[in-house]
This record gives sequence, C-alpha cells and structure tokens, in this order.
Amino acid sequence: MSEEVTNCSNSSDEDKTEAGNYFVSNYPPFAFWGEDDLTCLDSLLNSPQPGTAPLGLYYHIPFCRKRCHFCYFRVYTDKNSSQIRRYIAATMKELRRYAEKPYIKGRLPKFVYFGGGTPSYLSAKQLTELTDEMKEILPWDETEEVTFECEPGTLTEKKLEVIKGFGVTRLSLGIENFDDHVLGINGRAHRSEEVFRAYEFARSLDFEQVNVDLIAGMLEETEDNWKDSVRKAIELAPDSVTIYQMEIPFNTTIYRNMREEGKLTAPVADWPTKRNWVDYAFSEFEKSGYSVTSAYTAVKNPAKTKFVYRDRLWAGADMLATGVASFGHLGGIHYQNLPHIEQYQEALEEDLSAVSRALMTTEDERFLRELILQWKIGQVNLNYFREKFGQEIETRFEGVLTNLEKRQFLERGEDELRLTRQGLLQVDTLLHDFFQEKHQGGKYA
Ligand code: SF4
Repeated sequence: MSEEVTNCSNSSDEDKTEAGNYFVSNYPPFAFWGEDDLTCLDSLLNSPQPGTAPLGLYYHIPFCRKRCHFCYFRVYTDKNSSQIRRYIAATMKELRRYAEKPYIKGRLPKFVYFGGGTPSYLSAKQLTELTDEMKEILPWDETEEVTFECEPGTLTEKKLEVIKGFGVTRLSLGIENFDDHVLGINGRAHRSEEVFRAYEFARSLDFEQVNVDLIAGMLEETEDNWKDSVRKAIELAPDSVTIYQMEIPFNTTIYRNMREEGKLTAPVADWPTKRNWVDYAFSEFEKSGYSVTSAYTAVKNPAKTKFVYRDRLWAGADMLATGVASFGHLGGIHYQNLPHIEQYQEALEEDLSAVSRALMTTEDERFLRELILQWKIGQVNLNYFREKFGQEIETRFEGVLTNLEKRQFLERGEDELRLTRQGLLQVDTLLHDFFQEKHQGGKYA
C-alpha cells in the first residue's frame, strides 16, 4: 500500500456503503436460530456430566451515556441506579442458576468478558458488588483473562482503580476517533480530552493490556482526519489497537435518517476507501513495531499480548452468556437471551428461562463455524481441521480457494492457508463462500 491513501470517488454500486450487516460474527447466521432448539439447551444443562471444553463467561451491560448514531445494539440511556440494581440482581440470579446446572457445576471460567453497552457506565460501588458476587458464584481462580470495555468519558481514576482491583487484565478503550467534531457528529458521548485523561490513568495503574478501538469511516471523516487519528493512536503506544470498518445496520440512527431522506447509500466512506484507511493504519502501526494479528487487530508484542477470549471462542470454547440479549455457546448449542430489558428481568424474577432462541449445531456447522472465525486471524491451519474434524479443506473448498488465489487474496503454505493483506482487509465479504448452501444469501450476515 502506498503512503498516499486513496479516496475512491468513482465507486461502483457494490463499493458503496449501503445499509445492512457487513461483519460475520457467528455461524450459522442468527436468522436460523429459533425456539425449536430451546429444549436441547435445557437437556444439555441438565445432562449428568459437566462439559469439558474451556469455559468462558460473557457479562452484558446494556447501559450507555448516549446512543451513538452508528450503534446497532439495544442500549438504554435513561436508567437510574435503582433500575441498574434491578438489572444486576436479575443477571446474578441467571448466573446462579447456570452455576447449579450439572453441565456447568464445578467448572471455572478461563476467561471473563464484560461487554456492552458500556460496562464502565456502572459506578465503582456497583462494579465492586457485581464482581464480588460473580466470583462467589463462579470463582475466577483459573481465569487467564478479564476484558472490560470502557467509554473514556465514564472513567475516573477511582473507578479505574476498582476495575484493576477486581482483576481486569485487558482494558479496552472505545476511542473510535480523536477529532471532537467527528466524535460529536457521530453521537459519541466522549471527547478527545477525556480519552487522553482516561488513557493516562489506565497506564499509571499498570493494566496488563490496554487496547484502543478505532473506527474507519465515521460520519464526516476525511483522509486527513483518519491519518491524524492513526498518528495519535500510535503516540499513545497501546498494547493493541482494534480497527473496525464502519457498517450501517438497519437499526442505527444513521439508517433511519437515510430512510427518511430516501437514500440508499450511507453518508460515509465507501468500502475501498475504508479498506485503504485500515491498510494505512496497519502499515503505520507496523512501522512502529506492531504486528497485524487479525483482520481488525495490531499488537505491540504478540509474544506477550494474548486474546484468550477470541482465540478460545474461535476454537469452540463454551461461553456462558449473562445479560439481556447476550449470545452464548454451550456444548455446540448457540443461544441468545431475551432482547428487551423488561422481558429479560421479568423472566428471571419469575424463575423462568431468559433464553429466547437457540440452535443445536451439527458437526459440519461446528467445523464451518471454526473455519469461518479463524479466517479472521488471516491463517488457517489445515492439520488442525484435519485432526479435529477429519476435514480436508483444500479438497472440499478447492474451487473457492482457487478463486481467492486468482484474486490475490490467498497464499498456500505447506500446511496452512494465508490471506494476503488485501484478502484480510475484506475477509468478511469472503466468508459467505464457506457457508453451507442453505445459509448463503446476502441477508445472512
Ligand atoms: S458506546 Fe457502544 S454500545 Fe453504547 S451507544 Fe455507543 S456504540 Fe452503542
């Protein structure tokens, strides 16, 4: 990639950023999950033997100070502390119920992930009480990694001390951009001054890993602004940086505005421009000694900085999900909780299940899920899939792989397949070709 970042003004229709999901975050697609398999999850949880896969815990906090215009999560910006207490009580009831089930009983989480929403929206006191109770239910004695997502404007030194104190190893700061105008026009609650203050506090507390998130292609972002944001991110010297390309799902404010104005194309950079911007960022980080370790991540010291959550999950670990709308995966069964906070809390308060849909995957779907997720790291180890699933990837996908090679997105090694940088930058568009036929089709991201 040349130094000069190109802004593609003559983009074709498929280059334009239109509304819809771009990222492939799981497989089979969510549209295939339903109520029929809820009983499978019940049977699994009540099976007499505990599971043997590594166990992870995802805890969802759906509160934010403000709704970003590109946000597609269900978030609540109007909850007071007693409503938050009610939510936490429901999640603890949920966790306690899981911990007593034979499939979970006696197992300890290897990784814990606090996602949202904005986990750092909770007060220091709420966080202390919450994590004390979580540890009492499922102790963290074997936990290798605790990740905590933060919105910089919600962090004080005292809150960060508490976050460090209860065991967070990776603090992830949702910076997204350093320009106050871009942050404002995209509906972000924080401004750059809060970023620098929060980052300094975090560094002074010596977290094992500080990650910063950036988004390429926010509303009104320009090439100069992007370069400036990359420069400032490098100056912070985080342990890792995660960079997303802006997508505009249907449930975003940006899409609602597009619909009202009768527009099909989102008012953000097109896909080739966003790819070029991420490529530029990766190249700049590489010049500063970082290594690109996935389609979205560059890491300062790959030998030291691990992503236990990602790597375990992408290799088929069990993940217990707690909280409204959260996604879990146990014993080959995908599941998702009720999507509205009231429904979710009422279900738990009435001692009912909070799970709304599930999918019992087949062996072949589990193989494809791992393959699809591991492509995002940029390399696929053929022997791993041969041994674990008895699958010869080069035989089964010969046509797809040859096509990727022709497009210069793929290189073949002795026992591995590697995506080139151009392949990696658009990996999410390439993954659908590995789906089973019944799961293919643009609407199933
Ligand atoms: S901070 Fe994150 S979860 Fe909250 S509104 Fe913004 S994008 Fe959504």
